[in-house]
Amino acid sequence: MGRILFWLGLAALIYAAIVVARSKRKRSCRSSERKQPTEYSSVRMIKCEVCGTHFPEDEAVLGDGRSFCSEKCRKTARMKAARRNEAE
Ligand SMILES: [Zn+2]
Repeated sequence: MGRILFWLGLAALIYAAIVVARSKRKRSCRSSERKQPTEYSSVRMIKCEVCGTHFPEDEAVLGDGRSFCSEKCRKTARMKAARRNEAE
């Protein structure tokens, strides 16, 4: 009889540990889920003038008052502008 009580107690402890671990995990998931949608919805998607890629506004590389998806596209735009100036 003592053994059965021991195993029952052990099972209850394990069950309690699982429940606690799950509730902690849920809480952390919920807090991260709450943050992400607001972050995503607040970020506007803009189009790169050089390659036409859509990207989040906060990742934009700014140059000459315009927004580009990457440093490479900003350089390309500058080179194009420089060539245009040379031709004129
Ligand atoms: Zn680009």
